[in-house]
Amino acid sequence: MSVSRFQAMDVIENRLVPEVNAPSANISEFFGCNVFGDEAMQAFMSEETYLSVKATVQTGQKLTREVAEKVAEAMKAWATSKGATHYTHWFQPLTGRTAEKHDSFFTLRPDGTVLEEFSAEALVQQEPDGSSFPGGGMRSTFEARGYTVWDPSSPAFVLEVGDGRTLCIPTIFTTYGGDAMDYKLPLLRSQTVLEQASIAVCKMFDENVNHVHATLGWEQEYFLIDQALFRARPDLFYAGRTLLGASSAKGQQFEDHYFGSIPERVYAYMRDLETECHKLGIPVRTRHNEVAPAQYELAPMFEEINIAIDHNQLLMDIMDRVAGRHKLAVLLAEKPFNFINGSGKHNNWSMATDTGKNLLSPGKDPMKNLQFLTFFVNVIRAVYEHADLLRASVASAGNDHRLGANEAPPAIVSVFAGEGMTRILDAVENGTAARFDDMASEMELLSKLPTMEVHNTDRNRTSPFAFTGNKFEIRMVGSSASCAAPMTVMNTIMAQQLKNFKADVDALMAGGTAKEEAIIKVLRRYIGESKAIRFEGDGYSNEWKEEAARRGLPNVPNSAQALGAYVSPKAVELFTSNGVLTDKELQAHFSVKLEKYIKDIQIEASLLREMVLTMVLPACVEYQNSLLQNIALQKEIGLDKDAYEAQLDIVEKISKHLNGAKKAIDRLHKAIHKAESAGGLHDEAIAFGLEVKPVFDEVRKHVDHLEQLMDDQQWPLPKMRELLFVR
Ligand code: ADP
Ligand code: MG
Repeated sequence: MSVSRFQAMDVIENRLVPEVNAPSANISEFFGCNVFGDEAMQAFMSEETYLSVKATVQTGQKLTREVAEKVAEAMKAWATSKGATHYTHWFQPLTGRTAEKHDSFFTLRPDGTVLEEFSAEALVQQEPDGSSFPGGGMRSTFEARGYTVWDPSSPAFVLEVGDGRTLCIPTIFTTYGGDAMDYKLPLLRSQTVLEQASIAVCKMFDENVNHVHATLGWEQEYFLIDQALFRARPDLFYAGRTLLGASSAKGQQFEDHYFGSIPERVYAYMRDLETECHKLGIPVRTRHNEVAPAQYELAPMFEEINIAIDHNQLLMDIMDRVAGRHKLAVLLAEKPFNFINGSGKHNNWSMATDTGKNLLSPGKDPMKNLQFLTFFVNVIRAVYEHADLLRASVASAGNDHRLGANEAPPAIVSVFAGEGMTRILDAVENGTAARFDDMASEMELLSKLPTMEVHNTDRNRTSPFAFTGNKFEIRMVGSSASCAAPMTVMNTIMAQQLKNFKADVDALMAGGTAKEEAIIKVLRRYIGESKAIRFEGDGYSNEWKEEAARRGLPNVPNSAQALGAYVSPKAVELFTSNGVLTDKELQAHFSVKLEKYIKDIQIEASLLREMVLTMVLPACVEYQNSLLQNIALQKEIGLDKDAYEAQLDIVEKISKHLNGAKKAIDRLHKAIHKAESAGGLHDEAIAFGLEVKPVFDEVRKHVDHLEQLMDDQQWPLPKMRELLFVR
């Protein structure tokens, strides 16, 4: 039997806030202590080996076997000094979370001797049985082998779980034939093309640029509720969101939670979580209450994109573990509760050079400004060209409840440039100057705009893609999602755009146009062409939906439909020609996303049915019986109908809504059967989204009425007010 709602409340009354002990009050003293980073490498490797590893990370060239052997030796020595007994290749299958399979260093030799061992083979490549990971048909079970291959660009780390210590080695996950079965490999490939394309463009401005990398700073929103209440709700426990529940009288009306004082239990959780993050080198810095009750956020300093993504994946794992210690449950789902805000994971994205420049930071000197403007305009143009793909990259059943739900960006992709930048773009576009000299003075003028003005970009929280002074913030990503898919798309569309830009400028220059003039000309054209994607107004408004339709911008609220953009001829061409995903990989990843979408809804449907028939209905019948008994007794002593009018009314209403709920459940079943026979996977997913999902609301409507009619003492499921406010 599951924990009852009242048992849960009793348990919470007696909770103690666990003590939180950081290794030191100064984070700098223990930051990264469980990471095999520069410091550890230098301590455990020869100078020569260390430099080889660094060169590999910089250039991507392969490590020789000899060096790999030395790295493995050093890693083992370091990890065992930290108490690690096991190692694992840590990877990111298409489930969107992380996977690990531990092996011990301890080995028994044929001659009976025992020792701790870690070879170059074990470091570089492993063969976990991949048959149970989603592969979208790339690897049928008879060729079930999947390979994990070391990614030296993301440092190994020791994960502490209770008293256990495991060396985790970030890896990519592929089939025998080398096809990507994870999110990391396409991401790494997208970084490579972005780097190549960016360097070529950077060199137009500065010959000294030899490396460019994308940067990512994510902001993770989440809900935190008591574990006992969480366990008393099968929907939360198994689906991560409530499928039933009348709204709480008090919700987020006062908006008093945002940036409010952090409750003590939550504060302890945050400190504990941050300590774990810091030990693992995740540079989290910011914590605060979010808008909805029981909603919070944490954010790190930005990092190189691959590492930032690994860190976010690791974070989601640690959040769960630490919550367990505090008898709390973390909800990462995009929309755990109706009627209040959902959670997102803003992705702050930019690009940085090895000369220390943030390519999306407006500089002071005009030529540098032209470089900034070049990258800025190319981002806008890339988003304009591939808005549908960006939308597809954040598609999930969970995010369907959030996008466009009046507190999250709409499903229409648009770019917010801010007032200062809009003025600059308009000036460039309308600049009557045909020659660069005139343009240069225009640019110079622009460069004199106080930098503050650009930074002051009014925080348009309704935009899905906003310039925030020195980076773009992509707000559509769901809170439970891996950042890898949207970031892979972002890198790839930008790479393609920069290639086009370079070709356009080169063509003009070949015709005799001077470089700067050619650049301005091309940018001017791009600004004009991509104007439709720019929107500074209220993205939540209905007017915007109409306006966007007039502009011809795609608006696809349903994720299953949106996913189609992944396999459009345009996307196939983009991904394959840039070497980010092969046609086969693309089809496979597409299938995995569709399957996940369908399964998420199937699981929710089963849970909903079970909760209604086995929890709600019996409770309602019991209450109804007690009312009927009361009515019968009143009748027996000769009272007339007036006396038991209220009881009778409730009895009737309970019957009405119980029948309504049962009928809706039956309709849900029919809709599922119909969807399952829709033919192709894509059509099936769309049917689940458009025909199955809406029936959930019909069931819920009746059950939520019942909740408000029922004896509070007999209602089995923790109520919204309890979930959100009891701690
Ligand atoms: P806020 O949005 O609260 O004003 P910031 O703008 O400082 O805070 O940062 C929000 C997030 O954006 C943080 O995770 C931060 O590290 C990240 N960020 C800042 N600069 C960059 C950049 N150049 N590239 C990527 N992310 C960045
Ligand atoms: Mg922000």
